[in-house]
Amino acid sequence: MAGIFFGIADALLRKRRCPKCGKEQVVPRERTRDTVKCIKCEASVPPPSRNGRSRADTRRT
Ligand SMILES: [Zn+2]
Repeated sequence: MAGIFFGIADALLRKRRCPKCGKEQVVPRERTRDTVKCIKCEASVPPPSRNGRSRADTRRT
C-alpha cells in the first residue's frame, strides 16, 4: 500500500488558504476540485492550479 504518501498528497490538496483573509482550511475530499467558501469570511477559495497550467490550455492544432 502507498497509503502514507497518498495521504500526504491528499492532505496538501485539501489544505487551502483563503486569498482574502488568509484563513487556512481543510477542504473535504470530494470538494478538492471545487471552489469552496471560506469558513471565516465566506470569500470564494478556488482550488490550487496544478503545475501552473491555466484553464485556457485547451487549444488544439
Ligand atoms: Zn477568508
